[in-house]
Amino acid sequence: MQNQPPRTTTVDRFTIGRCDDCGSLLAPEASTCSSCRGTEISRTPSEGTGSIVAWTVLEVSPSRTYTDVIPYTMAIVALDEGPWTYAWIDGAPMEGAERPRVRYSRMMSGEPYPLFVQQTC
Ligand SMILES: [Zn+2]
Repeated sequence: MQNQPPRTTTVDRFTIGRCDDCGSLLAPEASTCSSCRGTEISRTPSEGTGSIVAWTVLEVSPSRTYTDVIPYTMAIVALDEGPWTYAWIDGAPMEGAERPRVRYSRMMSGEPYPLFVQQTC
């Protein structure tokens, strides 16, 4: 078993963007609406579940704090709400799974992208 970093007490809700003009749901880091080019973007809670559409495995940790959980996988996740987001995946995607299901785990300090974990059920 891996040593897990201590859990923080911060409630760490995953949010995505939502266009104030047309209501389109957008990637977490979006600053411009992909539908209407609006720039008034609000935050809205996401279920934090989706499917991996593309990934690459990195043997180098993105964060010196979490060197115990390499290799990391950088993936593009299609959220169930629609938007796609870049995300770190804890571990390598399962062999043979066409679009592995993942869910939001947490943000890592110093990292712009969220960490997702694979759903094994
Ligand atoms: Zn819009």
